[in-house]
Amino acid sequence: MHPHLKSLIELQAVDLRLIGIRERLERFPKRLAETEGRVTTAKQQIATAKESLLTGQKERKTFEMDVEQWKERAKKYRNQSGEVKTNEAYKALLHEIQNAEDEIAKAEDRLLERMVSGEEYDRQVKTAEAALKEVEAIAAKERQAIQAEYNAAQKELSAAEAVRASAMAAVPEDLVSHYERIAKRHGGIALAEIRGEGCGQCGVHIRPHVIQQLQRDSNEGFFHCETCTRILYYADHAAASGSPANTASAAASTGDPPPTPAREN
Ligand SMILES: [Zn+2]
Repeated sequence: MHPHLKSLIELQAVDLRLIGIRERLERFPKRLAETEGRVTTAKQQIATAKESLLTGQKERKTFEMDVEQWKERAKKYRNQSGEVKTNEAYKALLHEIQNAEDEIAKAEDRLLERMVSGEEYDRQVKTAEAALKEVEAIAAKERQAIQAEYNAAQKELSAAEAVRASAMAAVPEDLVSHYERIAKRHGGIALAEIRGEGCGQCGVHIRPHVIQQLQRDSNEGFFHCETCTRILYYADHAAASGSPANTASAAASTGDPPPTPAREN
């Protein structure tokens, strides 16, 4: 295999890793925002419950004052009852007293309702505050875990970038730009392994003489897939053992047809 092609394969492997790492890094802000969102929601629930409680307390004061005012009026009318001269006036006064008594009863009913609902709002505030404590405890753990994962991903990124730099250093500049142009058009994948008799990326059939060329150890040429334009390579997965028996079993285990033995030059 062409030594530059070997370097490009390394470059491709590290680039794929980099794509994965960068995708993970991009998801971190969203994950953090989701955690913060849960805390915000819990805080809003407390605010809503507190507002209801406050409104209830204000209404309760108003109704307490209503009760007092109507009691005052009823008292005043009763005091007047000794001074009335006519039967008509006395009847009218009795009517006013009755009316005031009715209003007292109504205001007391409203007051009682507010006292009951006030207790309910009080419970809601306490429940919401307890929920916030839980949410905040979980959020603190989540933030820590996310931060740790982020730091690890950053480390992986630096390490992979270093590997990329050394892989790139082994390849001539114009070949790197050629590789990068193809990668840019094809979701970061500029290389295609020969699989069976086709392009491992787009699946199109590759002419046998190209495959034979690529299988030669002495091959110095670059070949491109005529359909997807990716740079083709032939990975001899059994190269380490080299024996024909192992080659056949390796091919069988991957489901590929047995590769044509490389011709010696
Ligand atoms: Zn292709």
